[in-house]
Amino acid sequence: MIDDNLLADTLSDEHRSTLEAALRALKTDLVQFIASITEATATVVLDQGQQGRLSRIDAMAAQKMAQAHKRRAGVRLERVVHILSQSKNEDFGCCGDCVEPIPMARLMARPDAVLCVDCASAREG
Ligand SMILES: [Zn+2]
Repeated sequence: MIDDNLLADTLSDEHRSTLEAALRALKTDLVQFIASITEATATVVLDQGQQGRLSRIDAMAAQKMAQAHKRRAGVRLERVVHILSQSKNEDFGCCGDCVEPIPMARLMARPDAVLCVDCASAREG
């Protein structure tokens, strides 16, 4: 009984490397996203002189939003890097609350998920 539980409580090697690859891909995506936003926000500043007052306000609002996106992506990137640094741990891919392995379907949809669906919705509720 105890042995069965131990086996069920870790991700298989195959799933482990699939998740690691998905996290690496997500990390690359986030780095590229942050780079493209950095470029976009820099362009807004440069273009300001040629725009009217209203469009300048629009541009500033867009820039604020882009900066918020960038901040969020940065936080997510840090989390992805952190999760990757623990990829050799026993509980890699397991829920941070109930320690059950997070289903692969969820991990493939969101490789940086640290909670299973049940625990995530329990926290939100
Ligand atoms: Zn859980």
